[in-house]
Amino acid sequence: MCALTLGHDELFVDIEATDPKALSSSIGRQLRDGAIRFPFIYSRDLYDLFADLFEEEKDYLSSEETMRLLQAIPCGVFQYGRYIIGPSGLTEAQSGRALRFSKRVPAFHCSDPVCRDLHSVVFSTGHNAEINSQQHKLVRYLESLETPEADWTGLAMELNNLSETHFGDHWIAPMVTLLGDCLGLEELRTLIAELGDSQPIGERPELLEMAPWHSDQTIAAALDKLVLAGEIVVPEGEVRAPISTGHLRSGAYRLQPQLGSQGVRFVSGDPGLPTLRQRELIRKLYLSGNDDDRHELD
Ligand SMILES: [Zn+2]
Repeated sequence: MCALTLGHDELFVDIEATDPKALSSSIGRQLRDGAIRFPFIYSRDLYDLFADLFEEEKDYLSSEETMRLLQAIPCGVFQYGRYIIGPSGLTEAQSGRALRFSKRVPAFHCSDPVCRDLHSVVFSTGHNAEINSQQHKLVRYLESLETPEADWTGLAMELNNLSETHFGDHWIAPMVTLLGDCLGLEELRTLIAELGDSQPIGERPELLEMAPWHSDQTIAAALDKLVLAGEIVVPEGEVRAPISTGHLRSGAYRLQPQLGSQGVRFVSGDPGLPTLRQRELIRKLYLSGNDDDRHELD
């Protein structure tokens, strides 16, 4: 309950007395045992299973239905800061990343023949979990206190350093979505090998879990290299874009990674962004203080 509420006027957690290693190994063990479950949302596992399990279109799954679905699909891959969640539990990456789980997951196409959207369904946790029946007591108690509530969530966001990169036009969109949705199994194996794992084994979830160890820049560069060398074949005119994870975009410009015959690009739904990028490019090339460059531009 303390971890869910974080604090009131004071923090509920003693940071200095906390043992992050013990916490992470406990969470890792529960992930491996299946006591904590995240859905595998990449590729088509969830989509196909949803179509097999449910006849009707659904907006919401009961906790029993959620469990049925979770038990039949592989363990999901997500990342919170430096911690990667995956089939082998919890591992620590070299660089931080925000690839967060949401209870709303894309799952089906509707029967409307002109609608092309991938519709979402909302998972639910067990209402009978003890913590849910207790939590209102804490809320009621905190509301009765005279001391005002401090903004701990705001501080946590600040520490996460989210604001610094949020408005960058080159802030790289979540590359894992491109790998998970748009690469074949062999292509994914080739990429993981290129990133430094000599003998990548396993299926899509195990392979995908290895990718976030590397920064998005490194992954994008490796993918560029493989596509340009023809080791991953993307014919001219083909553009691969995430479908199942098309909703996971990054930054203020909602960037999405796509793969074409020239490698990786980051596309925004904002029609103004290409103009801004072009202006930035011209400014960098010509307006950085060199008069000759400026005359050439004129
Ligand atoms: Zn629809």
